[in-house]
Parts: sequence; C-alpha cells; structure tokens
Amino acid sequence: MERVLVSSCLLGRPVRYDGQAKTSSSDILARWRAEGRVVPFCPELAGGLGVPRPPAELRNGQVVTVHGDDVTDAFVQGAELALTAAREAEARVAVLKEGSPSCGSRQIADGTFSGNKIPGSGITTALLRSHGITVFNEEQFEEADALLRG
Ligand code: SF4
Repeated sequence: MERVLVSSCLLGRPVRYDGQAKTSSSDILARWRAEGRVVPFCPELAGGLGVPRPPAELRNGQVVTVHGDDVTDAFVQGAELALTAAREAEARVAVLKEGSPSCGSRQIADGTFSGNKIPGSGITTALLRSHGITVFNEEQFEEADALLRG
C-alpha cells in the first residue's frame, strides 16, 4: 500500500502556530487512514518550534516571525526531516496545508503579515518537489488519489 505524507494539522492535530488544527473532512483522507497509507508530519514541530509559536512568513527567501526573528534554520531543518520521512515511507505523493510558509503549495503569505497571499510554495513543499515528490493541497485529494492509483 503506497503511503502518503500528510500535514499533521489536516489530520486534526493541534500543531498550528495558534495551537489549532485544520482538520480535513475529506472522505478520501478518511479512507487513506483506514488503509494505513497516511504518514502524518508537521515540519515546524519537527524543526524544533513549539505550539503555540509566533506567526512566521517567507520574505526574500528567509522565514521571519511577526516579531522580526529569523527562524529560517528551523524551517529548513523541518523540511529536511519531512523529506527523510517521505523517503523512509517511500512516498511519492504529499498532501500539505495550503498557505503555510512550510506546507503551502500554490500560495503563501506575502511577508507583510497583512493577510495578503501571493503565488508561491513553502520551504518543505519546495524541497519535496525538488526531490521528485508531488505535493498537493487539501483541496486536491481527488488528484492525489488518482496519482496513487495510476
Ligand atoms: S507546518 Fe504544516 S503541518 Fe505543521 S501546522 Fe503548519 S501547515 Fe500544519
């Protein structure tokens, strides 16, 4: 059974910066869990950040918190550990939370903490993609499932 890396917050784990989850109600995700396919992963926790933690956004290739602290190293470490987890599970597909500076795959915050989004991807998504892993967001479970079946 081919495995899939999935953002922990989509699985109901309260690991977001604000201590909340972003639980997905996808039937496909529920089936994947029943099949034992899912590899839960939160790059930011893996990188050593806590819950809650200050919001952070990508800006000019660095990740900075709303307080101005540079947390790029933790984000990069989390991305590398996500890649390791995907490789160990032999996953070629990931479904990650859209909009995150780690997990975003189509859009990210613009770095001004104003709520504006711009096209782009998070640090983990970029690293996974550069190693041949296809990354989808939580609106794309059908596409991800089709790739698994293909
Ligand atoms: S880093 Fe990814 S998995 Fe962790 S809380 Fe943020 S979006 Fe969810």
